[in-house]
Amino acid sequence: MNKNLEEIYGTMGISEKVLRLSQEVEQTLKKRFEKIDKITEYNQMKVLSAMQKNKLSEAHFAPTTGYGYNDIGRETLEKVYADIFHTKAALVRPQITCGTHALYLALSAVLRPGDELISPVGKPYDTMEEIIGIRKSTGSLAEYGVSYKQVELLEDGSFDYDGIRDAISDKTKMMTIQRSKGYLTRPTFSVKQIGELITFIKEINSDIICMVDNCYGEFVDIIEPSDVGADMVVGSLIKNPGGGLAPIGGYICGTEECVDKAYYRLTAPGLGSEVGATLGVNKDFFQGLFQAPQVVNGALKGAIFAANLYEGLGYECTPDATEDRHDIIQAITFHDPDKVVAFCEGIQYAAPVDSYVTPTPWAMPGYDCDVIMAAGAFISGASIELSADAPMHEPYTVYFQGGLSYDHARFGIMKSLARMEEKGLVDLQK
Ligand SMILES: *Cc1c(COP(=O)(O)O)cnc(C)c1O
Repeated sequence: MNKNLEEIYGTMGISEKVLRLSQEVEQTLKKRFEKIDKITEYNQMKVLSAMQKNKLSEAHFAPTTGYGYNDIGRETLEKVYADIFHTKAALVRPQITCGTHALYLALSAVLRPGDELISPVGKPYDTMEEIIGIRKSTGSLAEYGVSYKQVELLEDGSFDYDGIRDAISDKTKMMTIQRSKGYLTRPTFSVKQIGELITFIKEINSDIICMVDNCYGEFVDIIEPSDVGADMVVGSLIKNPGGGLAPIGGYICGTEECVDKAYYRLTAPGLGSEVGATLGVNKDFFQGLFQAPQVVNGALKGAIFAANLYEGLGYECTPDATEDRHDIIQAITFHDPDKVVAFCEGIQYAAPVDSYVTPTPWAMPGYDCDVIMAAGAFISGASIELSADAPMHEPYTVYFQGGLSYDHARFGIMKSLARMEEKGLVDLQK
């Protein structure tokens, strides 16, 4: 073993046992990692060629203020996004405050009173419940006369095609399809699966707008949902496509008509895309996007490393150690609150920011139980950075994601195990 490496890990609280076990696990992952590197290589070229095609230059980094008319950086950024996602149009703005906001924008842009929205993939992400009005909420789509139905997935996690056909009515205007499992235990869908679902829906009624919540999915595959028929693809810039550098923002890529409607909803009827100063964030948007394939590469490798390490120790991992990946989230089930807390402490102690802080479970608004969260991020709340969170109830599952580099993601996982070892919660023989 490399003496220097052992020494620096030692000073950072990683025991010899944890280090050796980690290195053994990593040895087995070479082939997996090569496959991920190939995807990254493709995506890096996809991003680079979009930037070159649109003649990105330093002038595009200049800040605009006030109304933000003629912001050439903003216009170029949106063209670059449209090229990467192979869509006619894109809206990429710092005025979008988070992923939830981007999703609300996309839905409220398209839906009108009397329309019906369907989720053909079961319960959507928590924050979507208030947008839609599944949980009563001020300003929800329900308040505006938009109705909602959801079709549960089948027992094995696949689409209930018969149920979806039965659910579609004359009023059905839009489908909301969530790619990532988010904080559920269902599988994350591959882009290919999403394509099959969209094809099925469009065969029934080609006018139904299919929107995909792409959060945590960007650059995990060489195709995106917009390559398989999605009318709108939506995500957050403090996740994958911001590459850890975007300080805020969201995107909607899609058809001209859909994106246009989103512009008018974001600003005002009559104004649309013409206003929206970028205040100097353009360089970080571009540079983050440029880095994003590499950052996603590290996060994916970290997730795979985590699954292999913890599955080897006997814990249930979703996805499991060998499954293909369709997002960057790793769930690990401990059935033990002490282990969940120790895991999150380890992740926190591994952070570049706030590493001296100890996370504790608390009653977070919007959740029906205590939640523990570990994050020490440069961008507040950015879950493309190393982070973990867990609702404090059975089965005591931790959701782990991010890491701006593989080395950091791996260290976070090593540190989580080291913390459990320290607290006497695991026995690492060998
Ligand atoms: C993160 C996420 C959201 C919401 O994004 P926020 O930025 O937290 O508002 C929506 N859907 C999925 C699947 C997500 O992972």
